[in-house]
Amino acid sequence: MEVVAAKKMKTMALEVQNFIGGEFIPAKTHLDSFNPATGEVWAKIPDSGKEEIDLAVKSAKQAFPSWSSLSPEVRGQHLHKIADILESRLDEFAEIESRDQGKPVGLAKKVDIPRAVQNLRFFATAIQHTLNDSTVQSKFGVFNYTTKNPIGVAGLISPWNLPLYLLTLKIGPCIAVGNTCICKPSEMTSVSAWMLCEVMKQAGLPPGVVNMVFGYGHKVGQSMVEHPEIPVISFTGGTATGKKIISSSAANFKKLSLELGGKNAAIIFDDADLEQCIPMAVRSSFTNQGEVCIATSRIFVQEKLYPRFLELFIEATRKLKVGPPTESTTDVGALISKEHLAKVKGYVDIAIEEGGRIECGERSQDEELSLPESHRNGYFMRPTVITNLKDTSRCMQEEIFGPVTCVVPFQTEEEVIERANGVQFGLCASVWTTDLGTAHRVAHKLEVGAVWTNCGLIRDLNMPFGGIKASGIGRESAKESLNFYTEDKTICIKMT
Ligand code: NAD
Repeated sequence: MEVVAAKKMKTMALEVQNFIGGEFIPAKTHLDSFNPATGEVWAKIPDSGKEEIDLAVKSAKQAFPSWSSLSPEVRGQHLHKIADILESRLDEFAEIESRDQGKPVGLAKKVDIPRAVQNLRFFATAIQHTLNDSTVQSKFGVFNYTTKNPIGVAGLISPWNLPLYLLTLKIGPCIAVGNTCICKPSEMTSVSAWMLCEVMKQAGLPPGVVNMVFGYGHKVGQSMVEHPEIPVISFTGGTATGKKIISSSAANFKKLSLELGGKNAAIIFDDADLEQCIPMAVRSSFTNQGEVCIATSRIFVQEKLYPRFLELFIEATRKLKVGPPTESTTDVGALISKEHLAKVKGYVDIAIEEGGRIECGERSQDEELSLPESHRNGYFMRPTVITNLKDTSRCMQEEIFGPVTCVVPFQTEEEVIERANGVQFGLCASVWTTDLGTAHRVAHKLEVGAVWTNCGLIRDLNMPFGGIKASGIGRESAKESLNFYTEDKTICIKMT
């Protein structure tokens, strides 16, 4: 297989192949993948199913004994090599990620691809530092110690919003500890994962360690989840899919990690520093078109500050430039698909029906979007701010996953904690105050997996990340991911 250079890809739809046992395998049938910024088909993705998954399981099983017996140092070297090649092609990968997903190229260059490189490097070194437990039980005259063992073939299923970023966050720890895997990227954003296969091949990763099977979730994903020889599934995606995965995998007692949706609150107290808060509230609501699981979508502002906050927030939001992802001045690119755009715009209509006031963006008095002719069929929309909604309204309860955020006032600390917790999700939140006591008190009471205070969108791979309630099961981080992808065994030795 030859990965065609980014420039050549402009003219014809490129044909993606599955990567199984270190070989690129042409598919019998394909599905269309669209460039969200133009609405044109730009790639053909294998429409795979159970047959391809069976083949990939066979190859991953074959690769497991030798890969898992390599030392952590050697496995780490493989990951470093992949990271180095990926980094040397950063610009090309960023352009492709943008064309496939709709995000600004600048964002992919600054965040997505560097983070993918970092994910691989981080876990290449993290496995060099793991410590096993040991105890001495003198009353029995025994010594216990643990070993951490890779599990076998893992199924890694990833979403479309941060394609390579989230996929490498799974591949890194999974293979670093000695598992082999089958990856299923989103059918809407498969191209960077396909290109990664070429990088892995070039880096000399042994065949079968990472297999990539492309296609629809209900076919490929479902086959993986039901497959008796894939004992572990790491999934990032929607809450509804997560629920389905739990029930489909139950019969085989699979180990599951589920990173799901969110409805994240920002809580802004009267004493907040607005100079810091406004730019971050805008970034965390609209970066990547709001298609980020940790995006802010409910903003609670204490009543004295509310009018000033709203004025500045709307002013800053209106300044965001929506446009072609390739332009360096673009802040907000295209949404992932026609259907998703309709769904997100539909929420603005729902908000109006529910009594909401549209302060800026879609369905407001603001100017219509002006796009170049080449992008008129792209899936663009203006960042939208909604006020005057009840907490029970659908826009305040459901994950919209687009450039729409709701702002509401509150009076007391107790009240806002209860309201922020009053959703089915529990991924993350941010708290804005200059009072340290308030910051700690509120952070402790929020039902979420992560709280940022006077900052946001920061993720340290050393720290556990994940949600509670309908936002997921399990955590990802150095320690947590390495635990998830291994099984501990306790060995007891008689000393006397
Ligand atoms: P999705 O659930 O539709 O799809 C995610 C992946 O699952 C895709 O690869 C899809 O093909 C596959 N899939 C679909 N049906 C399946 C099935 N029955 N069995 C197995 N796999 C199946 O999610 P999406 O629309 O791609 O992504 C957006 C969602 O992801 C949002 O809800 C967002 O909050 C969530 N997300 C969460 C995190 C996190 O860390 N918590 C990060 C990013 C995105």
